[in-house]
Amino acid sequence: MIHVLKHVESITQHRDRSLLEAGVASALFELVKAKEVNLYKVQSEESGHFLERVTHVGQDGLRFNSEFEPGSDPVPVSTRPEMQACVEAAQIVRRHDEAGGVFVHCFPIRVERGVLGVLEVICAAPLDDDDLGTAEGFLGLYRNYLNLLDYSERDTLTGLRNRKTFDENIGKILGNIARPTDDDKRRRRPEDSHQHWLAVVDVDHFKRVNDQFGHLYGDEVLLLLARIMRQSFRQQDKLFRFGGEEFVVVLRAATEAEVHRALERFRRAVEDYNFPQIGRVTASIGYTMIKPEDTIPEIVGRADDALYVAKENGRNQLANYEALLAEGMISVREQPSGDIELF
Ligand code: GH3
Ligand code: MG
Ligand code: MG
Repeated sequence: MIHVLKHVESITQHRDRSLLEAGVASALFELVKAKEVNLYKVQSEESGHFLERVTHVGQDGLRFNSEFEPGSDPVPVSTRPEMQACVEAAQIVRRHDEAGGVFVHCFPIRVERGVLGVLEVICAAPLDDDDLGTAEGFLGLYRNYLNLLDYSERDTLTGLRNRKTFDENIGKILGNIARPTDDDKRRRRPEDSHQHWLAVVDVDHFKRVNDQFGHLYGDEVLLLLARIMRQSFRQQDKLFRFGGEEFVVVLRAATEAEVHRALERFRRAVEDYNFPQIGRVTASIGYTMIKPEDTIPEIVGRADDALYVAKENGRNQLANYEALLAEGMISVREQPSGDIELF
């Protein structure tokens, strides 16, 4: 019992998601005498669910990735039937792997937003009721912690990540671009040489919505807009409510054409949506490529400059900073924009 409490104590020290996950996986590895424990994130794409391993504990030690580093190469969930059953039914699934002489247990990681991942516990024998209880207890603790972290990291109106989370994580993203780890370099394939892009989305004439229909309707528009954002972007794209009626999207894409396509799909989805009572609402988007030497105010400043051009050109459109610069429509910004605080 004391042994278990020690693990609980060490896990609950963490406010960082990846350290928390590493703590849960290590605790289970030891307590149920597993051969291996893995934590997979579930990514939902149009073509189905994919699994990305982010934490591993085994005889060979512990490995984990931070939330903004890519984990293992995503594999379709359909290649792992026990994982698929676990994700789809949101239930514990056990499989006897006769060839490997092991039992694979899959535990769904279910939070308020849905099944976020699967914890895989591989043992020489099936887990008995005591061990299942231990595993479920730790998963419960982990889930509660995730919900708490969500609460502090997310905006209460839209459920998107908040500005504070942006400030904390953009640094990690920049850090990863500037200093790829050896593991990153090994993993680097053509499709991994993706750039990161940052887009600022601003609702057009939102003041009019508030003035004409009232603040509550304005809030509903923001809520619905956030839902459209979640539906239009991929799960691995990071969505933030930056403040007021401004949102930020950080996405990886190999080419400008690819990021343009993703943003344009979202812009059109907003334009086509029939907002109850209000009807049509549109948004303008400015975006820029994130470079390793960038500071945060520089990146946001460039996207803001592009957004400004999109607004001036009639709103309801995209503008890419680098393209505007190449076309001579904009000049290089010397000073980070003055309204950026917190850095
Ligand atoms: P533009 O097309 O140039 O962006 O025009 P705009 O009216 O959207 O821009 P402006 O920045 O002048 O107005 C933004 C408005 O957003 C003003 C503010 O009252 C409203 N707003 C900011 N936060 C919230 C919120 O949380 N809820 C609601 N309902 N309104 C908000
Ligand atoms: Mg605004
Ligand atoms: Mg606006």
